[in-house]
Amino acid sequence: MSNYIVLFGSPGSGKGTQAKLLKRCLQAPHISTGDMLRERIAQGTELGFRVAARMHAGALVLDDTVNGMVAGRLGQRDAKDGFILDGYPRTTPQAQFLCEWLDERGIREVVIHLAVDYNSIIARLMGRRQCPRCGTLYNIVSRPPKREGLCDLDGEKLAIREDDREEVIRERLNAYDRQTRPVLEFYRTAGRRLTEVDASSDPPEKVFDKICQAIDVHDCAQDAR
Ligand code: AMP
Repeated sequence: MSNYIVLFGSPGSGKGTQAKLLKRCLQAPHISTGDMLRERIAQGTELGFRVAARMHAGALVLDDTVNGMVAGRLGQRDAKDGFILDGYPRTTPQAQFLCEWLDERGIREVVIHLAVDYNSIIARLMGRRQCPRCGTLYNIVSRPPKREGLCDLDGEKLAIREDDREEVIRERLNAYDRQTRPVLEFYRTAGRRLTEVDASSDPPEKVFDKICQAIDVHDCAQDAR
């Protein structure tokens, strides 16, 4: 079993949802590069200004920027005994950077590939809604809130992410095909631990069970619900 998890998959494959379940179960921080970048934009930092245009257009942020940000975050004390990386690495140079960083510290990660077919991805991304206050994710088709448009936990009005508009979704999927999918081949040839989980049609709890089996965690699937 490893507490160092890399969740890999296309936009809309459910990485964020699974990361939140895993976080409760492994008690390791959920490190989402997308969330970190959005935070920096919201805070108006210099890095935020630099990345905003690329993000809003659905393009990837430059490797050096993301690598530096991730290395800083992984070096923090709460990530010492484990982490759940969500949305990183997304390019082969990022994967190389991460592998070197982990190897230097003797850490063995497990990469979990959430495999989802193209049509499910489009449907998920178009229906996605998020609570801007607590971050809870919904989907108007597969996981609607109890009261339309409002978060179940705090009643906040749910929001559509800036980059979940149709033309931006198309660009994000293009970026995935061109730049991110090849990372799988990198992990295969590098002989790293890579597990594929079919996440196309099962509900999130079922996908989570499969992940727990894959990483050899057995007491946790029920706790996390
Ligand atoms: P996400 O929330 O993971 O879907 O990421 C949203 C956006 O943030 C992406 O479309 C990219 O513009 C940017 N981003 C997130 N993670 C990365 C990464 N590892 N490399 C480059 N850009 C990223």
